[in-house]
Amino acid sequence: MLQQTQSLRVVGPWLKFIERFPTPESCAEAPLSEVLRVWSGLGYPRRARALHSAARQIVNEHGGAVPASYEGLRSLPGVGDYTASAVSSFAFHLPLAVLDTNVGRVLARALVNRSLSAKEARQVAGSLLAKGDSAPHNQAMIDLGALFCRSIPRCETCPVSRACRWRNEGGPDPAPKSAGVSAPQAKFAGSDRQLRGRILREVLDRPQSRAMIRRAIGEVDDVRFERLVESLRRDGLIETGRLIRLADG
Ligand code: SF4
Repeated sequence: MLQQTQSLRVVGPWLKFIERFPTPESCAEAPLSEVLRVWSGLGYPRRARALHSAARQIVNEHGGAVPASYEGLRSLPGVGDYTASAVSSFAFHLPLAVLDTNVGRVLARALVNRSLSAKEARQVAGSLLAKGDSAPHNQAMIDLGALFCRSIPRCETCPVSRACRWRNEGGPDPAPKSAGVSAPQAKFAGSDRQLRGRILREVLDRPQSRAMIRRAIGEVDDVRFERLVESLRRDGLIETGRLIRLADG
């Protein structure tokens, strides 16, 4: 839920989700359509589908327990390096560095004053870990990037400014092209992402004809509409026919 989404937006939907699906079993047993309904409002519905598939894999292959290893987590649908590292560290206290966009900026600016490849960023991030529980260190690095070393950095009040290489040595900002640092998101208004969300919202409660959906979502040409419907179908989120409905896998 937190990928590409600010944590304050996630709190409400997360509480609702965890109340309805308190265990992997409860999520795995539900049809996908119900998971999509509870997820609605968060955007990026492919993540809901991946989470549902992951819950089923956890039940079928791990006896209902979330795997407590980086490799086990990576084998789950929708779980990449960042999520596997974060869950390994924060839930299971394993010695792994978390590399998100906040941490990526801190590494490139404060530690090396140059852009880092993915491999280098992993090495630098890992070299900072002390023995024992990695969670406090990772949380501190994320907070440093989120509160001070932002896209527009707040060096004046930054607690590591005296040791920061970019601050001391100067030069072009090394963060934007460094591994882990996300590019600014494309504009949402009028985007395919927004229209896909609106199409999905129209069929949340009941199947609808194409004409009804198009009336509800407003101006969109035939070719674009069919392309978006097809992309939702390919992603396994809807079923198409005379009516369009949520997928019920
Ligand atoms: S001093 Fe500035 S550039 Fe360096 S880590 Fe702090 S906020 Fe980032």
